[in-house]
Amino acid sequence: MARKVLVLGEVRDQSLRNVSFEAIAAGKTIAEGGEVVAVLLGDNVSALSTELIHYGADRVVAVENEKLQTYTPDGYSQALLSVISEENPEGIVFGHTALGKDLSPKIAAKLGSGLISDATAIEVTGGNVVFTRPIYSGKAFEKKIVTDGVIFATIRPNNISPLEKDDSRSGDTSTLSVDIKDLRTIVKEVVRKASEGVDLSEAKVVIAGGRGVKSEDGFEPLQELANVLGGAVGASRGACDAEYCDYSLQIGQTGKVVTPDLYIACGISGAIQHLAGMSNSKVIVAINKDPEANIFKVADYGIVGDLFEVVPLLTEEFRKL
Ligand code: FAD
Repeated sequence: MARKVLVLGEVRDQSLRNVSFEAIAAGKTIAEGGEVVAVLLGDNVSALSTELIHYGADRVVAVENEKLQTYTPDGYSQALLSVISEENPEGIVFGHTALGKDLSPKIAAKLGSGLISDATAIEVTGGNVVFTRPIYSGKAFEKKIVTDGVIFATIRPNNISPLEKDDSRSGDTSTLSVDIKDLRTIVKEVVRKASEGVDLSEAKVVIAGGRGVKSEDGFEPLQELANVLGGAVGASRGACDAEYCDYSLQIGQTGKVVTPDLYIACGISGAIQHLAGMSNSKVIVAINKDPEANIFKVADYGIVGDLFEVVPLLTEEFRKL
């Protein structure tokens, strides 16, 4: 059954986040040959429309308004609901990002629709669009279908492959003018850390440090390895609690959920709350002095040794490639 599916293109620093392209691929599966319409919300964002077309969107609708310069649930809801009422989609896809997690339930509730959150795979079988999503902190997966109303989902970054970029793809791009009423919240200032490097939630390689790194300086060899591999540095809560690094790096049940192609855990014991945030990574390498450490139970490759010896050796070898 062909459907019209809306996909939110997520913009950060005037660039599209990768999850936008993954959402287009998800939208294509749900659309079953129907139309995938990407939506851009912001101020001065329509220049990004072509890239969404190159990644497979059939059409792009941009809502530009200075009140959408930074994300507010209020402003974005008003803009997106206007697009939805123009387009009448049968499916809607967001990235399972901080923005997607905040905005999608509000929109779903307004539409009186359900929401399948954090999908890691989507397929069409037996005439149904079937979503796979993790439950019990990633220890099991459930499959879900939508039996009524709009098919509404958020997808976990790094799980659904985007379509190959094709610069020859063409499609319609338009802007929709929306009168955004006064916002209840206004973002006065966005304060960023000086260097954020690769975005942890979207990184293909994550080098994570635990209490075993022993100090803030102990993260340096991990950052060097991450630089060589084009990855991001993450951490256990143990390391954050010990003030070796910022809480924005925390991975786990109460931190970020990551699913990179390669996860290297350095000096992390592998507590269940940490595993909840990384156990679905494609390849897990654990470096730990303790051969009995729980992290080895989920690791594809384990190195029993001192991280301060092993990590620099890995960096040296990867540098040669
Ligand atoms: P430790 O358990 O102390 O492990 C350090 C490891 O480093 C040890 O295995 C040791 O053998 C190894 N090591 C030491 N020195 C070296 C060396 N030189 N070379 C190699 N290995 C070395 N934790 C999270 O990570 N994320 C969460 O989101 C999270 N949420 C939580 C929520 C709740 C409600 C609770 C109760 C806890 C939560 N925790 C979370 C905490 C979790 O239970 C663990 O306490 C924490 O993950 C431990 O961090 P760690 O592995 O770095 O430290």
